Amino acid sequence: MATAKQRVSSGRVFVNSYRLAHGKLHQKPWHRGTPDDHTPLLDAMVNKLKTTGFNNIQEFFDANKVTITAEYSKMYIRSGECNHCGKCCAGCGYHKDDRCIIYEERPQHCKEYPTGKHFENEMKDECGYIFTRTEYMPEIDLEWG
Ligand code: SF4
Ligand code: SF4
Repeated sequence: MATAKQRVSSGRVFVNSYRLAHGKLHQKPWHRGTPDDHTPLLDAMVNKLKTTGFNNIQEFFDANKVTITAEYSKMYIRSGECNHCGKCCAGCGYHKDDRCIIYEERPQHCKEYPTGKHFENEMKDECGYIFTRTEYMPEIDLEWG
């Protein structure tokens, strides 16, 4: 029985194949049938994904996201607290007068923010949270997606 991580790894191979074929498709001159040419590529990807237990593309991407999030949670210990600086909301259409106007219904990724990944890349100087790197090495490519 394959683990979730193994299934995600297999799924990535199939999605990468699709992306490659999709890129080649768009290198050809455009013609009226170009949109229809995507169908066999998508069907092939979905059928391959089904062999790893994903019934559709969304199931695969959801599992991929969960896998990556789990890896980050092992790589970093989060401490400190939000100081409500608002930097992580800058540019969002729901950020008005220094507050989130949909706070109770904000998307899941807003509830989980910040992760170690965002912190390393963007928020180190402003954020009230502190991330400490553990010795855990990710078992999966975190840049994929
Ligand atoms: S919490 Fe999310 S939805 Fe709300 S303002 Fe910030 S980025 Fe936008
Ligand atoms: S950047 Fe950090 S401290 Fe600032 S609002 Fe976002 S989570 Fe809170």
